Amino acid sequence: MNFYAYITGKNKYSFSPLLAAATGRIKPLKGQKPGAGDAVLFSFQSPDWKETWETLKRLPRGVVKVAGGAHPSGLPLHALDMGFDFVFSGEGEEHIHSLLNFLEGRGEPPPCLWSRERMGTVCRGVEIEKFAPFAEDLPIPIEITRGCPFLCAYCQTPRLSGRKMRHRSLETIVRWVEKLVNRGMKDIRFITPNGMGYGGRGGAQPQRLLSLLRLLKKKYPRARFYMGSFPSEFRPEHISLSPMKALRNLVSNRRVIFGAQSGSPEVLRRIKRGHTVEDVVRAAEVSLKANFRPEVDFIFGLPFDDEEESLRLMKRLAEMGARVHAHYFLPLPSTPLALEKPRPLSGPFLREVEKLTGAGTLFGQWKRQMALSLELYRLNRMFSTPYVGEEDKGNEKENNRGAPSR
Ligand code: SF4
Repeated sequence: MNFYAYITGKNKYSFSPLLAAATGRIKPLKGQKPGAGDAVLFSFQSPDWKETWETLKRLPRGVVKVAGGAHPSGLPLHALDMGFDFVFSGEGEEHIHSLLNFLEGRGEPPPCLWSRERMGTVCRGVEIEKFAPFAEDLPIPIEITRGCPFLCAYCQTPRLSGRKMRHRSLETIVRWVEKLVNRGMKDIRFITPNGMGYGGRGGAQPQRLLSLLRLLKKKYPRARFYMGSFPSEFRPEHISLSPMKALRNLVSNRRVIFGAQSGSPEVLRRIKRGHTVEDVVRAAEVSLKANFRPEVDFIFGLPFDDEEESLRLMKRLAEMGARVHAHYFLPLPSTPLALEKPRPLSGPFLREVEKLTGAGTLFGQWKRQMALSLELYRLNRMFSTPYVGEEDKGNEKENNRGAPSR
């Protein structure tokens, strides 16, 4: 049986570590024609489900089709309905060999494998330190941290990757940066949901992040390091002046990304962001003082949004010199907001948003996301299983506080 991975620009971050963990057993699908008895593995996020479905329909009969990634992990019954034979839910590195063995007819399926005959669990908690961050023929940014202790109600990360932050050690990161540098790569990026939390349990640990970057800069003075800009980001309440000034001398990005999501204290509480509106304003001030341009994420169309308060904060940030990165609410599968209907935007709100866009202080894919949002809402209504998330049951104070401080 041949195993192929359907790799695109959009899923290579999830496939690369998986190909490495599979130790050569999975080949990228590049021009080969899989036949009956072969297996093709897919990985995709919710916005890409239709494109994936089109590809799936073109595969010959008899090919075994396996889905993984954020959308199938959160909504396995939809992936099966799309025509997949199996869905692997969660993180793959630890179970990839048992999955391949099972497909070959040897051994038990991994616990998180779903099919029309069996329901699975979610595989979470991979200690990334034990695995390669990328396959050598598919280099990607180095994931330094996986998992997030916060419980933002719209986000799949803690539900699919778990709340415990797992970090790669300094030594391991240096080793993998060396591989990238030796390949002639000058721009070195990292993946983390919480850059200032590197090395800790979720609270701000800027000195650990700075130690890592200082070490890398010393070893590879000609490389350009990026931290706090995609695919890494910060939390606003973790941003403080002295670490940001130090960071400015170590990284090549001039932008930093952090989330506000809403300008309403009540909405922030309901979506369990674990920070305040003032934290966002202060983070923007500090970033600007440290000579970074802040790009602040907002989510339009949250079911209980307060447009006026969000507009007020967006305008304030724009006046300060920040840019707003606007998204439209996507009810992502497996999150507590998965069954919530997105809220249409009012005329006055849209007019103000257009003004900010015209002034160059607001950008983003929010218009394109509007159609997808309703579609996802409908899919969730049809295919959701009980939430797979590890929620902090009923303890509002704990949920809202988010992470342990150290
Ligand atoms: S801080 Fe919130 S949005 Fe960011 S990864 Fe964690 S739960 Fe998701």
